[in-house]
Amino acid sequence: MDILTVKPFESPDTVREIADVYRKSFGGSPWNEGYLCPACGRTYPLSAKEDLCPACAERSNSILLVEHWPIGRVISDFYHEMTKSDSVCVIARSEGHVIGFAWGYAVFSGPDLDMHLDAPGLHESLCGRYFYLDECAVDPDFQGKGIGKTLLREILDRRTEDRVILRTKDRSPMFHLTEKEGGRTIRHISDERVIMRLLSRP
Ligand SMILES: [Zn+2]
Repeated sequence: MDILTVKPFESPDTVREIADVYRKSFGGSPWNEGYLCPACGRTYPLSAKEDLCPACAERSNSILLVEHWPIGRVISDFYHEMTKSDSVCVIARSEGHVIGFAWGYAVFSGPDLDMHLDAPGLHESLCGRYFYLDECAVDPDFQGKGIGKTLLREILDRRTEDRVILRTKDRSPMFHLTEKEGGRTIRHISDERVIMRLLSRP
C-alpha cells in the first residue's frame, strides 16, 4: 500500500475514485448514508434493497429513496473543500486503486465555523486557527487493517496548523482512533455527532 498526497486539480481519475470510496464507505456502517428518504429524512445503507422508504410505507406513503451521496455531489464538495486555505488530501492506494483517503484544511474559529460544522456555540471553546480534518474514510473491503490510522497520521504530518479539530459520530471507528491518538471530545452536537480536538503533534 502507498500513501500519496493528491494534487486535487491535476488528478481527475483519482478524484473520481475518491468519490467512489466515499460513497461506499459512508454508505456502510456506522454511517449507513447510502440512501435518503426525501420525506422523513431517514437514511439507509447502500446494501438496502428497497426502492421505497420502509418507514413511510408503514404510514401508507410510497416515497422513493434517493442516493444520499451521489458521485457528482461528492466531487463538487471535494473540489470546493480543496479551494480552502491550506487544504491537503492524502490517499491510500493498493494495486493502482484508491482504497482510502483523508482531507482537511485550515479554519478560523468563529460563528461561521459553528455554522459550517453544525455545532452551535463551538467557537466559544476555541480560539484562532485550526486544521479541520474534514474527511477520513476507508473502502469497506479494506477496513480493519489499520489503514485509517495510517491515513490519520499521514494527514496530520502534512497539516499546517498545530491544533486539529474534527467532527465524527460518537463511538465510531474514527472516534476511537482519534482518542487513541490523544484526541478528546469537546462538544456533543446533534445527530450523535461530536467535535473532537487533537492538541499537539504525535
Ligand atoms: Zn421516509
